[in-house]
Amino acid sequence: MDYLPIFCQLQHKACLLVGGGEVAERKARLLLDAGAALTVNASQFNPQFRQWATEGRLTLVVGEFNADLLVGKWLAIAATDRVEVNALVYQCANQQRVFCNVVDDPKRASFIMPSIIDRSPIMVAVSSGGKAPVLARLLREKLEAMLPQHLGRLAHWGGALRQRVKQHFADPADRRRFWERLFSHHRLAQSLANNDAALAAQQTEELFDTPQRARGEVVLVGAGPGDAGLLTLKGLQQMQQADVVVYDRLVSDEVMALVRRDAERIFVGKRAGQHCVPQEQINRILLEQAQRGKRVVRLKGGDPFIFGRGGEELETLADGGIPFSVVPGITAASGCSAYSGIPLTHRDHAQSVRLVTGHAKADGGLDWATLAADRQTLVFYMGLTQAAEIQCQLQAHGMAATTPVALVENGTSCRQRVIEGELAQLALLAQQAASPSLIIVGSVVSLRSKLNWFASHSAAPDLAKMA
Ligand code: SAH
Repeated sequence: MDYLPIFCQLQHKACLLVGGGEVAERKARLLLDAGAALTVNASQFNPQFRQWATEGRLTLVVGEFNADLLVGKWLAIAATDRVEVNALVYQCANQQRVFCNVVDDPKRASFIMPSIIDRSPIMVAVSSGGKAPVLARLLREKLEAMLPQHLGRLAHWGGALRQRVKQHFADPADRRRFWERLFSHHRLAQSLANNDAALAAQQTEELFDTPQRARGEVVLVGAGPGDAGLLTLKGLQQMQQADVVVYDRLVSDEVMALVRRDAERIFVGKRAGQHCVPQEQINRILLEQAQRGKRVVRLKGGDPFIFGRGGEELETLADGGIPFSVVPGITAASGCSAYSGIPLTHRDHAQSVRLVTGHAKADGGLDWATLAADRQTLVFYMGLTQAAEIQCQLQAHGMAATTPVALVENGTSCRQRVIEGELAQLALLAQQAASPSLIIVGSVVSLRSKLNWFASHSAAPDLAKMA
């Protein structure tokens, strides 16, 4: 180990910063955040330093550095743009046993400053010991994305309960279980993020009241259309905390690879040659798993509230008294639109967009007259098998046979394929496409020739061959 990571308590402790420029300003900000009693020495200062001095937040010493400035200091930072001055500060600090950091020169430093992720009181520090700062920064960005913003509030909340928890649970194992449940309590975290202290207190009381009988919960998470990069941070966090993940065919392998390794996976989709698991059975699985105290993530392709039957599953849970929450996802229409270069609205083409199910027959059919109207974009989900009907009805209700259409197959994944043509060809084009595919109808489709950026396979229809 080249450096020992420690966290210093600097409140009201005298520290010296040498330098008055931009880099020094960044360091000053950190030291002030940590509550240091800061003296800054330089021959010239940025306006921000003068401002801080006027506000009484630090003391400025104008002029050349001298070793006396280090007397009584806990630590020093040399952040001038003159190598010889930085070296002198370091040398004098060493003589006086004052910890000293020299900016951008880890060899001349008795301490280095890590990249930090600040969720006070939770602090994560990353350092490469000066060997690979860019790698450390990339790691920091990853951690930054993984750690929810409300972590700090949760830690404060837990901190205030420590004494009570000690008294309440005699058994250390019960105490540990309580803390684990508190810190992974998704809805409590949300209440704290919302500043809803009353609800957070109620949720905390529930945890105290039912310490042994762990009650499960279900989080309905939208997994997006395929590309794992389109998951939300919240969705990812939930997937990494799950005991059980219930998923179906539309959730990509790439997304499933991000599920916590130890989580149980229950597939409820249609396998080749077999039928889907009936909806009632899925509802029952969710209910039973949660009743066993499991933290269940119900992963659904796209957004769970758009043609995802998410609502139906939650109704069963609500009836069963199981707590639940919902994390939205990017729906196929958004994903396919972006990755095929077809904006769903555009001032010159469409003032509205309609998300339509191709399976509407059983629900009483669609209002084709309004669907065939001008200046809108239609996006059909589950439309492949109904493509002939869609084509026929739209044309019968006055939509031009030449209206551009696109079928986006496996949208946003590396297997994405886009088939373009005109409304009059829709039924034939659909025969070339595989599931899952989305059908986009409207003049916005013509923008793709200019806006396509994603390297997908564009398939020109070979209608002659098919005729
Ligand atoms: N809840 C999902 C939709 C489920 S309905 C969502 O919000 O996206 C299933 C239909 O969604 C499929 O028949 C297909 O029309 C569409 N779909 C889902 N994922 C898709 C993808 N990656 N590419 C194209 N269409 C997709």
